[in-house]
Amino acid sequence: MALQMTWQPNPHRKRKPGPPLGLKNLGNTCYLNSVLQCLTYTPPLANFCLKFRHSISCDSAAEREKRGECPFCLLEKRIVRSLSIDQPLDTPSRINSCIKIFAESFKLGRQEDAHEFLRYVIDACHNTCLRLKKLQKCRVSNGGGVANGNGSANSHSAGEGFGGGTVVKEIFGGALQSQVKCLLCGLESNKVDEIMDISLDVLHSDSLKDALQKFFQAEVLDGNNKYKCDNCKKLVAARKQMSIFQAPNVLVIQLKRFEGIFGGKIDKLVAFEELLVLSSYMCKASQPEEALRNRNSYAY
Ligand SMILES: [Zn+2]
Ligand SMILES: [Zn+2]
Repeated sequence: MALQMTWQPNPHRKRKPGPPLGLKNLGNTCYLNSVLQCLTYTPPLANFCLKFRHSISCDSAAEREKRGECPFCLLEKRIVRSLSIDQPLDTPSRINSCIKIFAESFKLGRQEDAHEFLRYVIDACHNTCLRLKKLQKCRVSNGGGVANGNGSANSHSAGEGFGGGTVVKEIFGGALQSQVKCLLCGLESNKVDEIMDISLDVLHSDSLKDALQKFFQAEVLDGNNKYKCDNCKKLVAARKQMSIFQAPNVLVIQLKRFEGIFGGKIDKLVAFEELLVLSSYMCKASQPEEALRNRNSYAY
């Protein structure tokens, strides 16, 4: 089943139309609240959670005592609650008290980093899906069949079935290509890395567009920074350039607001437009449909 990228009708909605549910700060939990709000308003993830597509086939209810709470179940509950209850404000106390399930090193009540937390949440949910997928495969190969909540043999378990990945990867996963071209012989060396987000420097940029342009700008490696070319067999001047190999369905962009090692904050405004067009940053070798797909990207 394909991801549902636009908002679907919400069957649990008691909430009257209006501003989103506010989350109360429980003491230095702004990092937690901002990440939860971003995830709650990511349509494909919210649509997935509103149909309980994770918890329907998660084994955590049966094995909770053995393995503890499941991070994806916790997130699903939180997102459904935020999009359903008709209150102006809510307290995300459950997820706050379970913070160590997502990030072991985090401490209750301590100031933490939002981007770091987001990475922990995404990794925890992705790993949960992988674990369930493995479990499902084991059961199928043991001839036990797969139990799922709605009785349909074809329904995807725990958000699986999206091209061999997990629902988390299908939503946020993409790939960047880093190309180094020898300026002497012209040999190109390409390396592709999977990404779940892009981190942009904003110290010298006042807009997202400008920060992205700088990120994807070609850089000449020369002087002390020369490149060892496999063909020329020596250090040469080279051109390095990043490009998007595969655009994610939802592009997460982190603005690097930390300055230096003493944790100063770059708190200036960074402007962004509602529509983000990535086509000029796409890698030439990537599939043509990728250039179309990137129009669906959202920035947070
Ligand atoms: Zn679960
Ligand atoms: Zn060369």
